Amino acid sequence: MHLGHASTYLLAWLQVRSHHGQLILRMEDVDRQRCKPEFAEAWRQDMQWLGLSWDEEAPAQSTRDAAYLAALGSLQKQGLVFGCQCTRRDMDEAVRAPHQPWGAYPGTCVAANWPLDGSVALRLAYPEDAFVLRRADGAWSYPLAVVVDDRDQGVTHILRGQDLAPSELPQAFLHQALGNVPPACTHAPLWMGPDGARLSKRHGSLSIAALREKGWSAAAIWGWVAYALGYVSTTEPCVPSDMISSFLAQPIRSQPVSHEEVLPLWA
Ligand SMILES: [Zn+2]
Repeated sequence: MHLGHASTYLLAWLQVRSHHGQLILRMEDVDRQRCKPEFAEAWRQDMQWLGLSWDEEAPAQSTRDAAYLAALGSLQKQGLVFGCQCTRRDMDEAVRAPHQPWGAYPGTCVAANWPLDGSVALRLAYPEDAFVLRRADGAWSYPLAVVVDDRDQGVTHILRGQDLAPSELPQAFLHQALGNVPPACTHAPLWMGPDGARLSKRHGSLSIAALREKGWSAAAIWGWVAYALGYVSTTEPCVPSDMISSFLAQPIRSQPVSHEEVLPLWA
């Protein structure tokens, strides 16, 4: 977990706690090659160290094959699925990266009538964004998994990174096709590295584990996050509940947080 994740989770936590909702923790391990149980446990430990709670934990996506298969069947019956034989690289990107821009599919296979027997990738017949539902190797895509999970877990509100804003409408279409009212979406600011890129694993010094090892306390980290998000006027140490009243009083910051705003955390 890095600071960008922690900041987004904090905002979801503030949204839920300020409206007396229930916060669901869900391990989105749809990419089985990259997701390992020890990573999920490290996340839980980081969140506990940061003082961020959750009310229930949903089943991991790796246990949800039957639900995804049933949803795919329903979409097929509605004529909303087509086969696609575009390159493996396209398929990998669709599964791995919830952060890719959507709507990039050129429409190559829409009228090709590839068989829907599992030998080719399957896409949603939604002209604005024919995203992959299932890869040819059987892996479920991130958008299919999250929409089916949100429906089955009664999710009413989603708070996630600004980079996922373009996926809101296509996912709303999928929700409606699966008989669900789309959840309300709110977007959180991205955290950027000195290279101008969104925080990721290559910015290791901003991982919660690295900050802890450097001697940062959770309260000192939250002081800087609260300041960057505009909830306090100084960088004094604080805890998440200190931000609830400011959170309710102003809209969530939308512009990215640059590394210059939180330089001491990068030191
Ligand atoms: Zn194709």
